[in-house]
Amino acid sequence: MKTITLNNGVKIPIIGYGTYKVKEQAECEKCVEQAINCGYRLIDTAQAYGNEEFVGNAIINSGIKREELFITTKIWFNNFEGNDAYDSAIKSIEKLRVDYVDMILIHWPYGNYYNAYRALEKLYDQKLVRAIGVSNFNPDRFIDLIKFNKIAPMVNQIETNLYCQRDEERKYLNKYGIAHQSYAPLGQGKQLEMFNEPLVLKLANKYGKTSAQILLKHLIEKDVIVIPKSSNEERIKENINVFDFNLTVDEINALNALNKNAPTGGKPETAERTEQAMSWV
Ligand code: NAD
Repeated sequence: MKTITLNNGVKIPIIGYGTYKVKEQAECEKCVEQAINCGYRLIDTAQAYGNEEFVGNAIINSGIKREELFITTKIWFNNFEGNDAYDSAIKSIEKLRVDYVDMILIHWPYGNYYNAYRALEKLYDQKLVRAIGVSNFNPDRFIDLIKFNKIAPMVNQIETNLYCQRDEERKYLNKYGIAHQSYAPLGQGKQLEMFNEPLVLKLANKYGKTSAQILLKHLIEKDVIVIPKSSNEERIKENINVFDFNLTVDEINALNALNKNAPTGGKPETAERTEQAMSWV
C-alpha cells in the first residue's frame, strides 16, 4: 500500500475507508470489517458520525493487529470548550476500543477551535494520538493556527474531487508541510456527471477500470489521500483496486482541466454554509 509520510514521520495510507452516514450498527460493523478484509488499513470516523463504537467492534472482530491500522476520528464543534475537547477525545479512544488513535482532526473551524487544537497538542504529547490535524480549514485559518500554536497540523481533510480539486489550497498545504486528505472523493455520489465525463469514460475504457477507479486514481497520482465511502461490498473492493495501473502525466493534466472549483457540500467560508453548519448542533 502506498503511503504518505506526514511532517512528523508517521506514515498514512494513501487510501482509506470513510464511514460518514454508515450509522446503523450492523451495517457499520459489517462494512468496516469488509473494508479491512479487502485491504483498507485507514478507517475514517468522527464523533459526529455516531459510529465510533461500531468501528471499534469491527476492528476487534476483524482480528487485525492494532499497529497495522490507521484510525482517524474528529472532534465535533460542540465539544470545543473547556475540557470537553480533551475529555471527548478520551471517550472516542475508549469507544474505538484502542489505546491510542492514529489521527484526530478538528472537524470544522467553528467555535473555540483554538482551545480544541490545544487539547489535541496535549493528547499528542501524551502519545494518545500519533498525528493531529484539521478539516475544512482554508489556508487563512491554518496559517493563523500554525502561527499561534506549538505543533503544525499534519493533515488537512477537505472536500476534494474532480470538480473541486483544491490546487490553489494545495500550494499552501505543501508550503506549510500539511498533507492533503480528500473527503467526498467521489462527490458523495451526488454528481453523476463526474462519473460520465467523456474523458473519465475514455480512461476507464483504456485501463479496464470503472469511472470511480479513475476518479480516485487521479487524486492518488497527485499524492492526495482519499477516503471513499460505500456500503456495498463490491464497491468497497472496487474503490481500493486502483494500484494496477498508472495515469500518464498528460492524462492527469487533462483531468486537472476539468476542475470547476465547485464543492458538493458548499464552500466552508461562505455565510450560507456557516449558517447551515450552526444548525448542525
Ligand atoms: P464519497 O465521495 O466517498 O461518496 C460516497 C458515495 O459515492 C456512496 O454513498 C455512493 O453513493 C457513491 N459510490 C461509492 N463508491 C462508488 C463506486 N465504486 N461507484 C459508484 N458510486 C460509488 O463521499 P463521503 O462519504 O461524503 O466522503 C468520504 C468520507 O470522507 C466520509 O465517509 C467521511 O469518512 C469523510 N468525510 C469527512 C467530512 C469532513 O467534514 N471532514 C465530510 C464528509 C465526509
